[in-house]
Amino acid sequence: MKGSSAGPAEPGSDPSSRDGQALDGEHVSATHRAWSGTISPIGDRDFELLPAKAGIPFAPRTPLTEPFWAGCARGELLFQRCADCGYAGFPPAVACRACLSRALRWERSAGGATLYSWTVVHRPVSRAFRTPYAPAIVTVDEGYQMMTCLVGLGVPAIEAGMRLRAVFHEIEPGTSLPYFSPSTAPLPPSEQEPPCVPTI
Ligand SMILES: [Zn+2]
Repeated sequence: MKGSSAGPAEPGSDPSSRDGQALDGEHVSATHRAWSGTISPIGDRDFELLPAKAGIPFAPRTPLTEPFWAGCARGELLFQRCADCGYAGFPPAVACRACLSRALRWERSAGGATLYSWTVVHRPVSRAFRTPYAPAIVTVDEGYQMMTCLVGLGVPAIEAGMRLRAVFHEIEPGTSLPYFSPSTAPLPPSEQEPPCVPTI
């Protein structure tokens, strides 16, 4: 998904053949009429990526995830680290993904991350989403990856490996969602030691 776009194809960009067989003229014309009647060519122009509005679906708050959501409401990015092997994991779990220990402790990330992968969505799954938006996988400095969305930049400015930092936007009273924006300022130090790599 790196560098890809989930937006609609350009009208007229249909391949001239499918599975090695040329499409007949009637079929191609019908395809073009369907596209041109409903979709405008948009591409990845310099849209500003903005936080979602109220009403989008998001992961529910449960006893397991409540510390994470409480952290987001305070503007803090929390994750779990295994007290036995040091593995940093996300999303919240009842046992360590590396050693199955249940000795998981919540820690606060400093909020720095690197962009691993992303996509740009122009056709959302529901009207609740404001388009375009850019779902992304980021590698957080403390040693784990998480799904998020990018905000605070234009689509063409997105680059693999770019430095990011966590930002939080309230989606409903008492609940904030974690996003990531470009980071140029130094980050505060993490509350904990750097991650250690578990031996499996
Ligand atoms: Zn572990």
